[in-house]
Amino acid sequence: MPIVPKPSDLLGQEHLVAHFASQIVAGELPHAILLTGEEGGEAFPLSLVLAQQVLCEELTPEGVPCGHCHSCRQMAELQHPDLTLVFPIIKAQEGKEYTSEMMLEPFRELIAKHPRFTTLEWREQLDAGNKQPQIMVAEAERLIHNTSLSSFKSRYQVILIWQPETMRTETANKLLKLLEEPPTGVVFIMVSHSPHRLLPTIISRLQKVAVPKIPEPTLIKYLVEQKGTADEEARELTHLAQGNLYKALQLKEGGGLFKGEMEALRFLQLPLQRHPKPLLEAAQEYAKMDRPEVISLLDALPMLLRELLALRYGSDDVVFLPSKILAEAHAISMALPLEKYTIVMDELTDAKLEIIQNGNITMVLFDLLLTLTRIYQK
Ligand SMILES: [Zn+2]
Repeated sequence: MPIVPKPSDLLGQEHLVAHFASQIVAGELPHAILLTGEEGGEAFPLSLVLAQQVLCEELTPEGVPCGHCHSCRQMAELQHPDLTLVFPIIKAQEGKEYTSEMMLEPFRELIAKHPRFTTLEWREQLDAGNKQPQIMVAEAERLIHNTSLSSFKSRYQVILIWQPETMRTETANKLLKLLEEPPTGVVFIMVSHSPHRLLPTIISRLQKVAVPKIPEPTLIKYLVEQKGTADEEARELTHLAQGNLYKALQLKEGGGLFKGEMEALRFLQLPLQRHPKPLLEAAQEYAKMDRPEVISLLDALPMLLRELLALRYGSDDVVFLPSKILAEAHAISMALPLEKYTIVMDELTDAKLEIIQNGNITMVLFDLLLTLTRIYQK
């Protein structure tokens, strides 16, 4: 069973596939491309299709991979000798050099499951616990070594980097020269979900391509035809997921609610009680979670705040909240007038920074909840 998506498996990316095709046919493909798009979106599956396009030995005149040449067959299994996959990993043992080559099997497994996976799923696959997966320095050394060997079999050698933003500065600095003047035939394809976290020196060497969201009609059609969703439900899911298939499927599974969204809602509800005891108890409960989970809770809050703002001041078409939680969301939004939002955002940023810097989770969250109690309008 091929584990890599075909061009026809992509949703709403026809024009980008055609764009790269014409660049490849004309011999004008940039040697370093950065695909940007949100997690769970089409950017990563598109990068796999682009790698097939680059490596196929019998590309059609339209620039579509033939699907049957030796190269396409190897690519379908993600076992191509001229494809190097690089992604964030953790050090299972200190003092030992780790590269993504050693974690290729779990990575392939996840792609085989579904190619629109998220960082959280990858963390779970790695069993990362409290560790922050990153692209290690040894990785840069491996790439420099591999690309210096001119023995590759195809016309091209593809280096596909998922989440280059997790590169350590040391790694990035080592890669700069390779990115600046790659050996002939080497093509870098990077996929970033947070391009603002990339070093400017890296970004300036990449051709940036924003991967668009799935158009609503395409996503609705997919949910109805491929996932057996009723027409009306498919419409609601598509609207709430804002063109993100992964989110739409998660919502479908969760009966119309995002997990992160629910947790964020519960957090923002706490200060409505205006009593420190339950706040302290809640902070103590949160402290039992892994640190990265707390960070992802703090990451989910700004999104929900945006929704609350839209709920209080906007019109229906800019509100993306499931109907089930509208009443609770409304209560919080009434406590937060417009002028308080920047203050709340600043408090969230500070709290997140303290958690990242190993601050005491109970204390940081208790402080944050108390501050929110003061900020909330009666
Ligand atoms: Zn082919």
